[in-house]
Amino acid sequence: MNAPATGAAVAIQEYRNFIDGRWQAASDGRTVDVLSPSDGKVFARIARGTAADIDAAVAAARRAFENGPWPKMAAVDRGRLMIKLGLKIAEHAEELAQLEAADTGKPMKQARADMVAAARYFEFYGSAADKVHGEVIPFLEGYMVTVVRDPKGVTGHIIPWNYPAQMFGRTLAPAIAMGNCAVLKPAEEACLTPIRLTQLAEEAGFPPGVINLVCGVGEEAGAALSAHAGIDFLSFTGSPEVGTLVQIAAAKNHIGCTLELGGKSPQIIFDDADFEAVIPVVVNAIVQNGGQTCSAGSRVLVQRSIYDSLMARVAERFATLRVGSATMDLDCGPLISAQQKRRVEGFISQAKAEGVKVLAEATIAPGVPEGGFYVAPTLFGPVPRDNALACQEVFGPVLSAIPFEDEADAIRLANNTEFGLVAGVWSGNGARAMRVAKAMRCGQVFVNGYGAGGGIELPFGGVKKSGHGREKGLEALREFSQSKTIVFKHG
Ligand code: NAD
Repeated sequence: MNAPATGAAVAIQEYRNFIDGRWQAASDGRTVDVLSPSDGKVFARIARGTAADIDAAVAAARRAFENGPWPKMAAVDRGRLMIKLGLKIAEHAEELAQLEAADTGKPMKQARADMVAAARYFEFYGSAADKVHGEVIPFLEGYMVTVVRDPKGVTGHIIPWNYPAQMFGRTLAPAIAMGNCAVLKPAEEACLTPIRLTQLAEEAGFPPGVINLVCGVGEEAGAALSAHAGIDFLSFTGSPEVGTLVQIAAAKNHIGCTLELGGKSPQIIFDDADFEAVIPVVVNAIVQNGGQTCSAGSRVLVQRSIYDSLMARVAERFATLRVGSATMDLDCGPLISAQQKRRVEGFISQAKAEGVKVLAEATIAPGVPEGGFYVAPTLFGPVPRDNALACQEVFGPVLSAIPFEDEADAIRLANNTEFGLVAGVWSGNGARAMRVAKAMRCGQVFVNGYGAGGGIELPFGGVKKSGHGREKGLEALREFSQSKTIVFKHG
């Protein structure tokens, strides 16, 4: 392992880029400070990748794709190497979880769960690599027509800071399983586990150029990657605003992209729902990862006849939540940055100023380190349907409760945002739950449960401003490949 070089003056680790199988500083030697969200202090530095670094990484991926062993390797062998990486991740899970918790501020229990998922991505797609079959099309007499799936080529991947390790697996594993060679740009706020996972891939024996990692600032390395003419396909996860820029860049190069953007996901609770099952799930779906989850259940829509009784119980539980540092390992950690804290506090103070009632506020535990980016989870309700809290993505631990009248009203309300990522439906009436699930305009619906972020096997993605394309499940293998029809005239 030769990535980290100890910083000279203080014991701050510096992490480099990984290009063509070699760890290297940014082409101009610049770095970005990495702050701990738990105390706001600098504890690491990463390379501030440049357009020249992106050029080098894309060229390395191109060489690996055109001349290297990876795309030509038997799919079963590609899969074996990926499974080996999955096992390595599982072996290093505790070390990785500590790194992730330090970098993102998330409680250790969340970081540990994330490493299980990160390992699973390589296990799942490694096992799937040799199961992508083509088709045979009956055509004219004297012909054999087959449809095979080819890799896209060189794939570019831009990921956010909220689940760096999971995102590494989610975007890279299906791409490389199909034989693509990749360049990954993680988020500048949190990218230490992607770096460590790349080291583990190197140790596992991935050929040079298959996985290239360039850290740095979005407007620099990210923009250079999305605009690069040597990229054949882009996979982006992040904000709708940057997603627009990435899609424009992709269009200019006439390539495809998947966009996984934000959400304002509803949990619809009917009067015949099982309260005991609903309450912990509804609360967890917004405090998990400090609400910084694209699929957070950030709107709870409750049938009016049970609104007061259910929300009193939800509020009771919500008020018991405690916020602390990553190592305190409480219900909720700090937010990722001072900027994110300001943004979330802005939503909370605006709603309060507008007179939206606070149903419960959680506690920031005594003894949290000074300088951390802590925000107390807050439950508002009833939130007017046109309020910012009912429509906009907060990306923090803020839950909005809104009453509805009947099934038709619930469907209208649930679908009435610019987003469409995930929905939850809670009802003891199976027929009703199925009708509502079918009416949801989004990519995933949970009935009598909610699984923000989970389920590697389950295709995931959005509609409307939540993006397009699908990740996870076998569908992701289709995104990272394209069909080729071979028409063979044998006479
Ligand atoms: P962001 O869009 O600012 O950053 C995401 C990534 O894009 C980072 O790697 C960043 O460096 C890069 N980037 C920034 N500017 C760029 C540019 N001009 N060109 C190319 N790349 C650029 O988002 P964020 O603040 O890091 O993450 C929060 C947002 O991401 C939220 O809106 C959230 O809902 C969304 N998100 C969505 C999913 C999903 O799966 N749908 C998952 C996580 C986060």
